Amino acid sequence: MESTKKATLVSISVAEAWDAIMANFAPLEPVAVPLPEALGMALAEDVYSDLDLPPFDNSAMDGYALRAEDTDGASVGNPASLRVAGYIAAGAAPGPEDIVRPGIAIRIMTGAPVPVGADAVVRFEDTSEGQSLNAPQLQPQNARAERVAVGSDVLVYVKVKVGDSVRKAGEDVRRGERVLQKGTPIRPAEIGVLAAVGKASVRVHRRPRVAILATGDELVDVNEMPGAGQIRNSNSYAVAAQVTAWGAIAYNLGVARDNLEDLTAKIHRALDLRPDLLITSAGVSVGDYDIVKDVLMSLGTISMWQVRMRPGKPLAFGHLGSGNVPFLGLPGNPVSSMVNMELFGRPAIMKMLGKPRIRRPTITARTAQPLENSSGREHYIRGIVAKEDGQYVARTTGGQGSNLLTSMSKANALLIIDEDTQLIAKGEQVRALMLDWGEEVF
Ligand code: AMP
Ligand code: MG
Repeated sequence: MESTKKATLVSISVAEAWDAIMANFAPLEPVAVPLPEALGMALAEDVYSDLDLPPFDNSAMDGYALRAEDTDGASVGNPASLRVAGYIAAGAAPGPEDIVRPGIAIRIMTGAPVPVGADAVVRFEDTSEGQSLNAPQLQPQNARAERVAVGSDVLVYVKVKVGDSVRKAGEDVRRGERVLQKGTPIRPAEIGVLAAVGKASVRVHRRPRVAILATGDELVDVNEMPGAGQIRNSNSYAVAAQVTAWGAIAYNLGVARDNLEDLTAKIHRALDLRPDLLITSAGVSVGDYDIVKDVLMSLGTISMWQVRMRPGKPLAFGHLGSGNVPFLGLPGNPVSSMVNMELFGRPAIMKMLGKPRIRRPTITARTAQPLENSSGREHYIRGIVAKEDGQYVARTTGGQGSNLLTSMSKANALLIIDEDTQLIAKGEQVRALMLDWGEEVF
C-alpha cells in the first residue's frame, strides 16, 4: 500500500468486491450439536435412515381393517356385514388373535399396525359406526367403545380397494437410504426427518463468531443521552442484530476512540477472542483514513477500496493478527453499514455456516415511480415491494440519505440500479433484493 491517501483508494465494482471478499471464506469445521440446536444450520454429514419409514404397514384412518374383497358389491343400499373380531390402537402391537379372515374386520386407529390378513382399511365414516359417531358409547377414544364394538357386526357401505387407507412400510424411506445430503440447510422439516431417523445429535458447520467494534469519538452508548456533537452508537446494535439474525454469534465490543492507542488496544482485545470475522464500523472514509490505515496495516494485510456503490463506497477487507482473522471495515453511516453487511457480511456468514445458497433472492418488480441514478455507482435504493393485482410493484421509502436509518426500517427491499444506468422510468422493471426473504431459489 502507498502512504498517500488517494493513491491507495482502489475503485472497484460491487461484483469485484464480492469476489475478493468471498474468496476468503469457507464452511467452518463440523461440530456435533443436539438435534434441536441444529435448526438454521447446514448439515456437515450425509444422513442415512436406521429403519423403514413408516416402519410397518399402518392405518391412515380410524376405521376397520378388512379384506377388500369382502366389500365387493357393497353400497349404502346393500352394505357388507362383517364380524368385529378385535381392536388395535396406535402404539399397540397386534396380538396373535388379531387375524383378519373372510367375514372378519378389526377395529383400528390411525397409525396402528395393520393386522395379518387385512389388505385395506375402511374409515368409520363409511361404516355403521360412523353413522352413530356422535353417540358417546361409540366414540373411538372411549375405552368402553372397544368392548361395545368387538363381537358385534359392522356394516360397510362402500367397496374398498386393496391398499386403501394403508400406509405401506418403507413407502417414504427405506432402511439404509440417504435421507438428507451433506450441505442441506436444516429447516423445521429437516428437524422432523432427522428425528424420525433417530439423529439425536447432528453434525453441522459451527456458527461463526463475529466480533463487532464501532469507532468514533462522537459515539455514546444506547443508555446515554448524547451531549453536544455526540450521537448514539446504533451501528454496533444493528450489525450485531444482523449477525444474530443470520445465524452467527455476535460479540459487541463497544466503541474504540479515534486515536491510535485506543483503536490498537480494542482491536487487540477483539483478536484475543479469536473470532471468525472482525467487523468495524466507521473510520474508513477519507477523513479518518490515516489512523485506521496505520493501525490496520501494522496488524495485518488490508485492502481499502472505494466500492462503486451507493450508499457505501469506503470499505476495507483483509486479515489481522497472528490468527489471520478476516476483517471487514464497514463505512460509518448507519444505512451504508447495514447495506454493506447485506451485500458482503451476510454471504460471508452464510458461507461459513456451510449454506449452499448464500445470496438473498432477487426478483423483478414494476417501479411505480422513476428511479434515478446520477452517481455512476451501483445504487441500492431502500424500497418497499408490494403485490398489486398479482404483480410486484416497487416504491422507494423516500429520502435516500445514508444517515436515514429509519429508511432501512421502512424498507423490505433494496432496489438495484446498475452503475451505468441513469434512469429506470416509471412502469419499467427494476431488480429488487428482498431483505426479508430467505435464500435464493433457482
Ligand atoms: P465516518 O466513517 O467515521 O466518517 O462516519 C460516517 C458517519 O457515520 C458519521 O456521521 C458518523 O457519525 C456516523 N457513525 C459512525 N459510527 C457510527 C455508529 N456506530 N452509529 C451510528 N452512526 C455512526
Ligand atoms: Mg468517524
